[in-house]
Amino acid sequence: MRIVATADTHMPKRVKTLPYALQAMLEKADHIIHAGDITKSDILDMLAAFAPVTAVAGNADDAALREMLVERRILRAGRFRIGVCHGHGTRGKTLERALDAFNGQHVDAVVFGHSHIPYLGIHDGVLALNPGSPTDKRLSPYYSYGMIEAGETLSARIVYFDEYGHIIASSCYPDIYACCEPCMFCVTEAVRSGVWGYCLAMPL
Ligand SMILES: [Zn+2]
Ligand SMILES: [Zn+2]
Repeated sequence: MRIVATADTHMPKRVKTLPYALQAMLEKADHIIHAGDITKSDILDMLAAFAPVTAVAGNADDAALREMLVERRILRAGRFRIGVCHGHGTRGKTLERALDAFNGQHVDAVVFGHSHIPYLGIHDGVLALNPGSPTDKRLSPYYSYGMIEAGETLSARIVYFDEYGHIIASSCYPDIYACCEPCMFCVTEAVRSGVWGYCLAMPL
């Protein structure tokens, strides 16, 4: 199962359409996660045209979205359980809040957003993924989204792209923020051909 993870699109305030680099991958997705700050519900319709969507409410979502969505969800992906939350709050850091949101529940991964800062790591055996933002990168050098492959193993990567939609690199667990040539090739290839399986993704 190929899951595209995104967050913090802040549309249509930031941009009116989904960036092509993301759209190209959405076309190959079996499922889509949006970890909040969407910020209008028609963006969910846009995503749902590609694949089923699991979305949660973020602090910047409008009243209609907050009514429609809960703040925490657990997606079952094969034999894996993926917690989804936005990560906003007042205490601690975004990563800590996201992990705490599923404290005491069995999850294999947590996907979150809010900081707009891409992050990929393992904490007590739980894969933590912040896909960053494909539309509002703030101080990050690149726009980004996340990919999760749930099959025999669970693996994840972050794909970075620039304002022209060129994919710059991807980082795979455990090489956080590492811009590695093989992955760049893999992701470029994957977008082009739809064939996956080359990447340095690590089994949990
Ligand atoms: Zn945001
Ligand atoms: Zn937020």
